[in-house]
Amino acid sequence: MNNIELINKLYETSSLSIDEYEYLIINRDEESTKLLKKYAVEKRQQHYSNKVFVRGLIEVSNICKNDCYYCGIRKSNHNCDRYRLTKEEILECCNEGYSLGFRTFVLQGGEDGIFTDPWLCDLIESIKQSHPDCAITLSLGERSKESYQKLFDSGADRYLLRHETADSKHYSQLHPDNLSLENRLQCLKNLKEIGFQTGCGFMVGSPYQTTRNIAQDLKFIKEFSPDMCGVGPFIPHKDTMFNNYASGDADLCCYLLSIIRLIKPNILLPATTALGTVENNGRERGILSGANVIMPNLSPMSVRKKYALYDGKISTGEESAQSLYKLKQSMNAIGYEVVVDRGDINNNL
Ligand code: SAH
Repeated sequence: MNNIELINKLYETSSLSIDEYEYLIINRDEESTKLLKKYAVEKRQQHYSNKVFVRGLIEVSNICKNDCYYCGIRKSNHNCDRYRLTKEEILECCNEGYSLGFRTFVLQGGEDGIFTDPWLCDLIESIKQSHPDCAITLSLGERSKESYQKLFDSGADRYLLRHETADSKHYSQLHPDNLSLENRLQCLKNLKEIGFQTGCGFMVGSPYQTTRNIAQDLKFIKEFSPDMCGVGPFIPHKDTMFNNYASGDADLCCYLLSIIRLIKPNILLPATTALGTVENNGRERGILSGANVIMPNLSPMSVRKKYALYDGKISTGEESAQSLYKLKQSMNAIGYEVVVDRGDINNNL
């Protein structure tokens, strides 16, 4: 089958083999990009019309016990100016976000020892008490199943844990020996079993990534069937061993967003900050390729620059209200509407 035939097969069956995904990526051209985009937008439209869901991202801590080779807040980066937000600061971010219209808060951070179960459960309960109509998403890395269960029981709704790569050899090229793909996948399985709306994902263009690896990631997404999937370009950070690598390709990233939309038509798919960082209007392009979520930064201005996973992150110098205003304008300009909504996955169709 040629590319166009494969795209039609994906559109109709929402599934391809690893070999077919690989072929589709290798033979990416203008015609296939255009067709994929058209199909992806059509499917996204069926489930979510022209709505764009926003999630207020609160970067709760850049203290991390892990040493992921690609990440700017890795433990061994001694140039990183460390911080953690207090409970009061986080609640303040939520209050500000709520008044701006956010109905999902994403608490993301390094694996900071302060995040014990009692500390997090108390925080989650406090947020839910003030804002019972909001969803809480956590993105705090790997924890035990018992711990995830407690967080869920306290009221957390969703958990983002990118699988990073579905190939264990590639995983070991990106992480030190104490971190394994096996454990990462076990965590994802546990999250799903507990009942979290669960998100996986990977970086496009991470060091050593092959086309085959990306095809494996797509197959994994099909099999795992996550509620959310974060896919953004890798961007080097100056204080990591990957500082000389190039950033991931925005065109390929958008192409993959379209493919993922066809693999799971009702998936919640963000146009990531990293995509907006590698290219002006990257997030708009992501939406036009089939994404339907954007995660503006709600962190206090004083810490935004410090939460540097990679160099050059956008909107570190802009008030939340202003960046939301601009985002609404730019979405309206391409025919989309930023809505005030929890934006849960639509399982009705
Ligand atoms: N500690 C949490 C949150 C990690 S940060 C966890 O382990 O899940 C969220 C995501 O940012 C990571 O999963 C990774 O895919 C992405 N990321 C980290 N460094 C990056 C870089 N240099 N370029 C692009 N994305 C990066």
